[in-house]
Amino acid sequence: MKNILALLLISFNWLLYANQWESKSIDTSAVNALTTLVQANPAFSASILEEHYIDKDTGGLAILGSRLTTPENLKSLYSSIKEEDWSNIQHCASYLNDLDEKATSIRSKLAKLSNTSLSGVKIYGVMGAGNTAATASPTGVVLGLELICLEDAQETSMKRKLEDYITHELVHVLQFRLTKRTNFNFNLLEISLLEGSADYIAELIAGTAYTLNDDRAEFGLGKNRQLITDFKATMLSSDFSPWLYTDVDSMPRDMGYWVGYQIAKAYVENGGSIVDLLTMENAEVILKKSAL
Ligand SMILES: [Zn+2]
Repeated sequence: MKNILALLLISFNWLLYANQWESKSIDTSAVNALTTLVQANPAFSASILEEHYIDKDTGGLAILGSRLTTPENLKSLYSSIKEEDWSNIQHCASYLNDLDEKATSIRSKLAKLSNTSLSGVKIYGVMGAGNTAATASPTGVVLGLELICLEDAQETSMKRKLEDYITHELVHVLQFRLTKRTNFNFNLLEISLLEGSADYIAELIAGTAYTLNDDRAEFGLGKNRQLITDFKATMLSSDFSPWLYTDVDSMPRDMGYWVGYQIAKAYVENGGSIVDLLTMENAEVILKKSAL
């Protein structure tokens, strides 16, 4: 009976949260629902998780798609999170909520810069499967707080990081909205340019405060020519190693983002338009105009 009452309370809380967030651009109702569930019922099962968390999704979990994995896998991940980390995650969700106005301002700056509407785009803070810090769809952005929020609990730096993730992912929404492609199998050059453009435009919005490219930028200092020559050797292949999604000893993870950033920046500085950069009809034409 106690469990049923706890679950009724969770469902009621979810409804309250869902209504409260309807008019806002940021929705962290999933994090609140999950933390309430775990606190009310520490021995929660995979099926409870499915019924009271996954099935009550307000939109963010759907964006993760198959990356959300299975209720069994999520149960094992969430059961392993320590009490103090749950508290960090809750704080982090409230920092994200504080950024609602900021997110609206970023959204309108990006829309103006790209002449492309970002209306109706929601930003979801969720608890995912520990495999995706942030991703986007044509209608929304999702931040995986189970990854982002465990790195650092300090309010100012966490808000900075959340803001950077939001801007980077909103650029991906613009790319979704502008592309004319129907085939989304990208080669190394294309995917690096998609990511590097997101970093470049997010940096245009945030100025020097943008943080997500810092480690790569530091590594790339003074090595531009060599790194770009090495990158070009395999850029038309779909083998992304060592540039993307692989840990290697020779360079920071995802240096392809940095190469893409260099191309995007040089392209715009050579007179290329932001809209053409984001539409990316032909990545090789963009590279050529960048003169790198
Ligand atoms: Zn990205």
